[in-house]
Amino acid sequence: MFTERAIEALKKEGFKITKPRQWIVEFLDNNTSHPSAVEIYEQLRSKDKSFSFATVYNTLDVLVKSGVVRQISTDPKCSRFDPDLSNHAHFYCKKCGSVHDIFDINIGFSGLNGEVEEYQLNLFGTCEKCKKGGN
Ligand SMILES: [Zn+2]
Ligand SMILES: [Zn+2]
Repeated sequence: MFTERAIEALKKEGFKITKPRQWIVEFLDNNTSHPSAVEIYEQLRSKDKSFSFATVYNTLDVLVKSGVVRQISTDPKCSRFDPDLSNHAHFYCKKCGSVHDIFDINIGFSGLNGEVEEYQLNLFGTCEKCKKGGN
């Protein structure tokens, strides 16, 4: 589902579906770790010597502009990417930098007479692991 939409979006923008682009798409499919461009590059570079950061960058650019991947601003240090387009909030751990999804969230929009269709909500704090002193 995600893979098809992503490939379709890349083709529409005139991109050839090369192996590296396929790896990036596959890497993002069902990925809940909200990777940054650098992390995607680091994870995949060992697959092929010619794998370049530019490919990661321009592939993400098309996927974000086509609305297949969401760019999130939760991490103050870098942009992160989320293939899950459903409405959910993000929690950022200030200690370890991990980003977590929060789906069960209720927000009242008092004073707003229009209709909210999407939102980006960033929460900051300490994750469960760090709170327990794991790190
Ligand atoms: Zn943490
Ligand atoms: Zn998310």
